[in-house]
Amino acid sequence: MKQFTHIFGEVILTSILTIFGITTLGHAETTAATRPNILIILADDLGYADTGFTGSKVVQTPNLDRLAANGVVLKNGYVTHPYCGPSRSGLITGRYQARFGNETNFTYSPYDLHQGLPLTEKTFAERLKPVGYRTGIIGKWHLGASFPFRPSQRGFDHFYGFLSGGHSYWPDSVTTQLDLYSANGNLNYSVNEGGKLPLSRNDQVGAFEEYLTTALSRDAAAFVKQGSEPFLLYLAYNAPHSPLEAPNELIQKYRHVEPWARRVYLAMIDSMDQGIGMVLEALKESGKLDNTLIFFLSDNGGVAPKAGYVNEDWADNGPLRKGKGSLFEGGCRVPYLMHWPNGLPRGKVYEFPVSSLDIAATAVALGEGDSSGHSLDGVNLIPFLDGSRADAPHAALFWRIRDGAGWAVRTPAAKMLKEGYSSNPPELFNMLSDPYESDNMIDARPELRQQLAQLWNTWNSKNQSNLFLQSNEYQKKRLELYRQLDEQLKADALKRIPLVIE
Ligand code: CA
Repeated sequence: MKQFTHIFGEVILTSILTIFGITTLGHAETTAATRPNILIILADDLGYADTGFTGSKVVQTPNLDRLAANGVVLKNGYVTHPYCGPSRSGLITGRYQARFGNETNFTYSPYDLHQGLPLTEKTFAERLKPVGYRTGIIGKWHLGASFPFRPSQRGFDHFYGFLSGGHSYWPDSVTTQLDLYSANGNLNYSVNEGGKLPLSRNDQVGAFEEYLTTALSRDAAAFVKQGSEPFLLYLAYNAPHSPLEAPNELIQKYRHVEPWARRVYLAMIDSMDQGIGMVLEALKESGKLDNTLIFFLSDNGGVAPKAGYVNEDWADNGPLRKGKGSLFEGGCRVPYLMHWPNGLPRGKVYEFPVSSLDIAATAVALGEGDSSGHSLDGVNLIPFLDGSRADAPHAALFWRIRDGAGWAVRTPAAKMLKEGYSSNPPELFNMLSDPYESDNMIDARPELRQQLAQLWNTWNSKNQSNLFLQSNEYQKKRLELYRQLDEQLKADALKRIPLVIE
């Protein structure tokens, strides 16, 4: 009876307040109008110079170019790893992936309870969903295919796409046979495992009836239109990653381009830009564009022959040295922009180095998200971009691949690195006068070398060894596969690299 009186009393009080135009709103309702939507658009293996806003005169990317013109271009924008899986782990958690031992691509292993983004980590969706954000991932997941690692278990309300590291673009290629063997009879390497399976929609089979990039864009446009609560959408295109497949009419649009591979690659980028246009149109139609913070970037540089991808030379990284897989600028510095009419300046080019790690930190700060658990390595970029702060967001950015076989450190003024796929000694560059890394000054600047080494060693002291090339039977088999593909990779994986640099 006492409880009934209490409830009854509240009902009367609420009614009285409503009559007088006074309402008691919950946290989510009071802030929904001001907290921005977050849209992270990720391209896959996009060359640095393969968008209009980064200098291409060939490919047509009017939608991206408009976002750049009305937003902020991050000229020194970096990802944390020069290829897919680890780069995505850093981006989605806001933590250097070496913090949790992820230095290789997760395999498509739906029965392997060890193969995925460690459950000790929180994704940006897990930080924003509890505070009222509707969360979605559309496109490429690549962070674990067994049940504990799937998007539905990692904070996402909505998933349409594929769990594997790559996917074919045409519905008629779909098969329920895993393509574990490539055409030449070799076991497939991670990115193509599961690449022809049906698409997923929220742990069920999802419809796949048109060119994949368009299908993903259509789903994203529908997602952003729904509801009035704030949303976080991670739109992870696999374009323009191989396989090289595009609609014929778009390939024709670039028929003046040689070779054929680059023509198709440009068509894939064109389709992605048109898809982004569909999403922007949906945001406009639903009145949400002005309060949506959009990030656009690539997960790593474009494939370039000099980086060892001898048969994949269709991307253009402009003046940047090397490409995908490399710790030189071509591997880790990416096309990167932000757009948010309500909170960012228009037409600005920002010079200080920023990271993909900053996406989670910015989203959690603006969305008033859950900041419990591990502290984030990124920073909220908004005060740096709106002019509130004039200092650099990061004193230094760091890279580590293959248990330290490769490493790099970049301050605003300098960069020192050692490639992970070469026996070349470390190199040191002045990034202000030599941004394209042509003049190695490591012998001339011993004190700077020592200073940068100390920064890296301090950072690295909080990392852990790569967890995903060891420990169980499955991984031993993987090592055998690696042996076939790359003798040196196996040697380095087995040999513990001294984790102090000089
Ligand atoms: Ca990639």
